[in-house]
Amino acid sequence: MRRRFMFFWMTLMSALVLAACGGTDDPSTADEGLKIVTSFSILGDIAQEVAGDRAQVEYLVPIGEEPHEYETIPSDFQKVSDADVFFVNGFGLEGWLERLVQNVGDVPIVTVSEGVTPLPISGKDEEDPHAWLDVVNVITYVEYIRDDLMERDPEGAQIYEENAQSYIAELENLHAWIQAKVDEVDESKRTIVVSENAFKYFGEQYGFHTVGIWELNSHEEGTHSQIASVVDTIKDEGIPAVFVETTVDKRYMETVARDAGVDIAGEVYTDAVGLDGSGAETYIKMMEHNVSTFVEGLKQ
Ligand SMILES: [Zn+2]
Repeated sequence: MRRRFMFFWMTLMSALVLAACGGTDDPSTADEGLKIVTSFSILGDIAQEVAGDRAQVEYLVPIGEEPHEYETIPSDFQKVSDADVFFVNGFGLEGWLERLVQNVGDVPIVTVSEGVTPLPISGKDEEDPHAWLDVVNVITYVEYIRDDLMERDPEGAQIYEENAQSYIAELENLHAWIQAKVDEVDESKRTIVVSENAFKYFGEQYGFHTVGIWELNSHEEGTHSQIASVVDTIKDEGIPAVFVETTVDKRYMETVARDAGVDIAGEVYTDAVGLDGSGAETYIKMMEHNVSTFVEGLKQ
């Protein structure tokens, strides 16, 4: 009888200990593993793939908002202050970074696009930040994040290496799939028209000409002359369809489509992944979605 009573208590105690350690929102677990913060959701997904269960990953710019002109909120300062590392894209994407980092102490800030050759913004002496829309560049991002985490957390080195290796294999498959998929579009129709001319890296890699109403979201957006110029291009080149991004005001592209007499053939993801249930919740899924949308819209 007494033995059975002891067993009961031991079981109960272990259950309590397990509950205390296992709760995801229990502050006692907060010290376990690295805390990674990234500037925007696409980079959050990429970093999560490399970190796996070994780190908590958060991102600042909410899905649906664009990262160029983001206005930081007080909780962002807290998130970054508490982080072991803050991954940013660079190439001028995070124009709000300077103000943020002045107020977050000495958290290491790592620019993951080191090693990527930048493309310029048309007509400006600035780098185009949208390097992630070329899968080959994301493989470079992954290698950079992997090397950083291996150095920062040597005990997890093997995990980061394995995670990166399997993710890179998936990215290589994605790259090959895109190369094959775009072949369905006649070469004369390979022009992508979107609001922000964000697909230049994509276009360079996969053989598309790209046109935007404006060049970068933080620049002047949707003026009459910009809209007229895109409408002329669509008519002159016989471009069959246009596309609109999830993170911009759609009214400008609606005006372009109406004036040019073409359809908006779908929504694409450039500066954020999709919300839960969108089918574009990860970088890989958003790229699959984008490419399928382009191909269906342009091959008609
Ligand atoms: Zn953008």
